[in-house]
Amino acid sequence: AEAPALLARPENIFGPDRRNSQGYDLTDEATLARIRAAAPDRIADAAPLTVSPPTGQTRPITNPATGEIVAQVTEADARTAARAITDAAIWDAPPAERAATLRRAADLYEDHHAEIFATLHREAGKSLPDAVAELREAVDFLRYYALQGEARDDAPRGIVTAISPWNFPLAIFTGQIAAALMAGNAVLAKPAEQTPLIAALATRLLHQAGVPAAALQLLPGDGGTVGAALTSDPHINGVVFTGSTDTAQIIARAMADHLTPGTPLIAETGGLNAMIVDSTALPEQAVRDIVASSFQSAGQRCSALRCLYVQEDVAPQMIEMLKGAMDELGIGDPRHLSTDVGPVIDAQAQDDITTYIAAQEANLLHKRDVPNTGSFVPPTLLKVNGIADLDREIFGPVLHLATFRNRDLDKIIADVNARGFGLTFGLHTRIDSRVQEVADAIHVGNIYVNRNQIGAIVGSQPFGGEGLSGTGPKAGGPNYLPRFYAPAAPTAQP
Ligand code: GLU
Repeated sequence: AEAPALLARPENIFGPDRRNSQGYDLTDEATLARIRAAAPDRIADAAPLTVSPPTGQTRPITNPATGEIVAQVTEADARTAARAITDAAIWDAPPAERAATLRRAADLYEDHHAEIFATLHREAGKSLPDAVAELREAVDFLRYYALQGEARDDAPRGIVTAISPWNFPLAIFTGQIAAALMAGNAVLAKPAEQTPLIAALATRLLHQAGVPAAALQLLPGDGGTVGAALTSDPHINGVVFTGSTDTAQIIARAMADHLTPGTPLIAETGGLNAMIVDSTALPEQAVRDIVASSFQSAGQRCSALRCLYVQEDVAPQMIEMLKGAMDELGIGDPRHLSTDVGPVIDAQAQDDITTYIAAQEANLLHKRDVPNTGSFVPPTLLKVNGIADLDREIFGPVLHLATFRNRDLDKIIADVNARGFGLTFGLHTRIDSRVQEVADAIHVGNIYVNRNQIGAIVGSQPFGGEGLSGTGPKAGGPNYLPRFYAPAAPTAQP
């Protein structure tokens, strides 16, 4: 029988021509010295990169690690957005030329790695390993969609609005745009308010690679004005969004009120992710993976572990090991290689998370001290009875821990499913049959077994959730790019 049209065959994913970015060896002194020497002293200011001259106000951009103002951005306003929609033009070049252009952009990103890392440190508080991983993911998206789309001659949808988050201000920004452009659309990109500088740098490189100015316009600005304008104009033919579940619902309502029925919304939203560690797991490996899943990127990943379940008989030992591992985390200047945990994105996020931690004082198992500059939040471990005790996604370095007995396992899975999110799930076990049982029962996009549950790799771990976590299709997988083409005209039924 014919495979359903949406399911790509494996050779489309793992073709011999596809290779992921190799990154940088940060254990090599010479590589590190080269990256540091090439970092610019100042990062460039930013403004909308639109065809017509922009109008709008200036906003200072703050380094979350120090609180210093590092640059100024001129923001777009509703008038800039309206003109950008009028000026937008689909990218009318053969698919092979679009693919070659995106590959050139990937090479340019790599050439500019030192400037990219410096911008990610100063604007987003990213640690060096996180910045390297982010650049790799961005170039992987460019090359993956280029490879997937170069032989397709389907028509684009038209104008696509791409709204991206501050937590992956290069990788997710680029992934959305790369797919939309590869399909030939005109893209209007609105980066997060906090991270327009890296978006402007990336857009300049995409233009330099050959993406026409009318096919990619950058509109930094406020969600309530620019975001709203770009999701409620009837000329918009598709919206791709990564951010909170609440914002996705606002966008869906605006689209329902103003856009043509059937205009797609591709949304990747929040998570309330759990991990189960049973008594057969290797404790050292589990602890390392728990710490990475919860505290890397200061917990600011939608994939991050929020609620850990540890089997009762190994819990006292695991908790002690976990506290010890938390004490080993380097917290501080994101530029230093000794830093594992940088600041959270801004003072508002810091207030929100520290207020939450303070209210949980009675459940505190462990908490670190943090520098008192910038917006640092202490990596924190809290005791809970289970995921039902978490009232929302806390987007920072806060891990909740519950213990369980063997007979509770089905109930835990039911409780996790009942929350309605479905992004990542981690399982540490050495019982083979348990892996399949849990995988069959849990409703999430990405399950990770005996490893951490963050950092999906383009092309081999398509990433995305279900339920409140997103609409799909998964980014970096075979079904993502096809959503950006106009649907094929219906063929006669047999
Ligand atoms: N793709 C990222 C990961 O696998 C998470 C993306 C996000 O936080 O939005 O960790």
